[in-house]
Amino acid sequence: MSTLVFLEHHGGELLKGSLGVLAKAATLGDDVAALVAGSGVRDAAAEAGKYGAKKVYVADDAQLEAPLPQPRVDVLAQVVRDQGVDTVLFGNSVLAADVAAGLAARLDAGINWDLVDLAQEDGRLVGKRPALQDSVYVDVGWTSEPRIALFRSGSFDPSETGGSAEIEDVQVALEDHSMNARMVDQAHEESSGPSIEDADVIVAGGRGLGGPENFTLVEELAKALGGAVGATRAVVDAGWYPYSTQVGQTGKTVAPKLYIACGISGAIQHKVGMQSSGVIVSINKDPNAPIFEFSDLGVVGDVHEVVPKLTELVKQRRG
Ligand SMILES: Cc1cc2nc3c(=O)[nH]c(=O)nc-3n(C[C@H](O)[C@H](O)[C@H](O)COP(=O)(O)OP(=O)(O)OC[C@H]3O[C@@H](n4cnc5c(N)ncnc54)[C@H](O)[C@@H]3O)c2cc1C
Repeated sequence: MSTLVFLEHHGGELLKGSLGVLAKAATLGDDVAALVAGSGVRDAAAEAGKYGAKKVYVADDAQLEAPLPQPRVDVLAQVVRDQGVDTVLFGNSVLAADVAAGLAARLDAGINWDLVDLAQEDGRLVGKRPALQDSVYVDVGWTSEPRIALFRSGSFDPSETGGSAEIEDVQVALEDHSMNARMVDQAHEESSGPSIEDADVIVAGGRGLGGPENFTLVEELAKALGGAVGATRAVVDAGWYPYSTQVGQTGKTVAPKLYIACGISGAIQHKVGMQSSGVIVSINKDPNAPIFEFSDLGVVGDVHEVVPKLTELVKQRRG
């Protein structure tokens, strides 16, 4: 198996989601390469060796500066053809989903998306895909090569294995039609802490907080712990908190080391987005709340009393 992992980067740093996919690929075979495309990305690319890449293809070109999909499809298609790659893997993001779909169309290849795992079974590559509102896992495969797979964010832990990678430059030859799109503007959401995809600690709030103004409780605890704030769909739909923080089936899949759920009932659609967290702590006034069934530590109490005390305690210990 010759595998290529598309590594996405922001501000000179490789994204954890794609590094997790690389680390997973490295557990399945030796012939794992990565590809980094952008402008001024050479230093970031060298990092990929630590996550299991034996080789990193680097397409470093000013024409690749904007995070647009079609030029990346050109580069990937070229490497897949020249190097005889049979499997191309992506960690999901807005850009990666566009690139993966474009590559599938360009190479007339099969794509499986929304996967949460990958395995070798009887010499065949098998993807695991949640179905029926994430209540079952379905095995999916490919009938031709190259195989393309797009994984849910947070599916794999980006653990370092400590290797180093050979860097190989790719001469970029872009198609005319790939240059038709132009990045007009790029805005960055102002945020003082880590994003929920990257955070080691997530403090999430649900309807039990009682109103949008009470999100300061979870924000303060998240800040004290150096973590990020997550939310349930119920509060996002109510306009209490931004959609980008929604955890769950129709939000983000996260796997922080610590997940603190405040006033969250633990519906199955929320659970599937956070159940892989290292330690789950829940605060809920209802002792029969479903979230306690999959929590490592449960506090039966009112979030308005428990959360400020916890924040104070964390501040004292850290201070
Ligand atoms: C197709 C589909 C997709 C969905 N996708 C998602 C998704 O991606 N993410 C998601 O989160 N949901 C999703 N949902 C919605 C999901 O089913 C639940 O409705 C939602 O997760 C509930 O959010 P909640 O826990 O904030 O609210 P509730 O279910 O209303 O729970 C509030 C909890 O707070 C507790 N509480 C109340 N007051 C206090 C207090 N003062 N102190 C402590 N505890 C208190 C209550 O006991 C209760 O357990 C989806 C639903 C469907 C049908």
